Amino acid sequence: KESSVKSVNPFNNEIVKQFDVMNDKELESKISKADAAFKTWKKTAFNVRAKLLHKVASIMRDRKKELGALATLEMGKLHREAIQEVELSAAIFDYYADNGEKFLADSPLETPIGFAFLSYEPLGVLLSVQPWNFPFYQITRSAAPNIMAGNTMLFKHASNVPQCAQLMEDIFLEAGAPEGVYQNLFIPGEKASELVSDIRIKAVTLTGSEPAGASIAAAAGKYIKKSTLELGGSDAFIVLNDANIDEAVDAAVNGRMWNAGQVCTSPKRIIVEESIADSFLEKVKVKFASIKVGDPMSPETTLAPLSSEKAVEGVIKQVQQAVKEGATVLLGGKRIDRKGAFMEPTLLTNIEPGNSAYNEEIFGPVFMFYRVKDENEAVALANATNFGLGGSVFSGDEKRAVNVARQIETGMVYINHLTGITPELPFGGTKGSGYGREQSPAGIYEFVNAKLIRIT
Ligand code: NDP
Repeated sequence: KESSVKSVNPFNNEIVKQFDVMNDKELESKISKADAAFKTWKKTAFNVRAKLLHKVASIMRDRKKELGALATLEMGKLHREAIQEVELSAAIFDYYADNGEKFLADSPLETPIGFAFLSYEPLGVLLSVQPWNFPFYQITRSAAPNIMAGNTMLFKHASNVPQCAQLMEDIFLEAGAPEGVYQNLFIPGEKASELVSDIRIKAVTLTGSEPAGASIAAAAGKYIKKSTLELGGSDAFIVLNDANIDEAVDAAVNGRMWNAGQVCTSPKRIIVEESIADSFLEKVKVKFASIKVGDPMSPETTLAPLSSEKAVEGVIKQVQQAVKEGATVLLGGKRIDRKGAFMEPTLLTNIEPGNSAYNEEIFGPVFMFYRVKDENEAVALANATNFGLGGSVFSGDEKRAVNVARQIETGMVYINHLTGITPELPFGGTKGSGYGREQSPAGIYEFVNAKLIRIT
């Protein structure tokens, strides 16, 4: 049916389940419930909100294998990675449940003219538009801080993960969320941008592609609403000549194959100093040979299918275009001749400025390898795209690595580690990768009004 969202298993391309798209009347009812719920939810005590989030976390942990299997079914990721994702999401719910009250306590301001403080007040109904690559974690990043802050939420999840989307609403209800605090919407992407105009929706957050981000940001600008965006990335993974090469190779290859390469902070551009480049590349080839493609539910598999037919076709096209424009495929580059959205792990080199792959994000298992003569050239190459999400610097010299990290124009840089995800650390980018932060204390201040109250 045209007007439905479909769950399609990318391991065998079979349609698993379909849901009807919500009509305007159903949407109106959802928005008005969210608005009505805000009027009481904003007044609830922090311990009531914390109890809800802890309960959500514990349900997720208890059912992590089942939730993980659903993510694997709908978007193909390895089951063990899906379970880790559910555990991480539970940890984020617990983090805001444990710390939200402290973060949002009145904050006194020193002034020579009397006493003043900031009171952090929720904004109202928040629209959250999320992608499929981490069906539970992406939702959690906005749900946990904002529900703790007293906002109510409408979620527009990606159309290919409707069962995960619905399950999160069910978990909130099971955990005791009052009606209207957390609601899932089955609507197409463009409809989400239209909803921004509704007076009852006070702010919007999106994780996804640049066109979707631009559409949401344009609507938010038009109707003067706060927005945050977490868009794509083409993270540089810089390996300096004093790095531990084996550790760097392991991190780069495992990181790039994680989630079949469909991670915004995946190490997409591997930039290695000339003097160690040959030895690095040889080790990468050896590691590639050990990658096992197969059933994402099997513990032996190390590379899963991509999320959909459309996704694998898109990535193959990008690789073919890069080759047309002068790049070399050292390994892989093709679809795997079997059922499902599988692609060979791919190693690309000789990507010169002007090649489309030089500037684009490739959302699949494609390892782009660059040689540079020194660290200055590495920094220049790292900053040569319009993306600015994460990045890594590998070096045996911490001071040297930090000096390089300071020159990289992104929201996050990790030394001797992949760009990571933990509840306590902020996540977000700059330049074309968007604006705003999620997780950490910073994540809870995005959608509250820091109201000044001054007492004379
Ligand atoms: P999209 O940006 O299209 O999808 C992300 C979310 O945005 C989905 O919920 C989608 O809904 C929604 N959406 C789509 N169009 C609009 C719109 N005009 N207004 C409001 N919301 C919209 O990403 P794709 O899944 O198509 O992936 C394409 C590329 O995006 C990837 O190759 C990758 O480069 C990037 N991406 C980055 C991610 C990240 O983590 N930063 C995650 C996923 C993708 P619907 O599914 O119904 O279209």
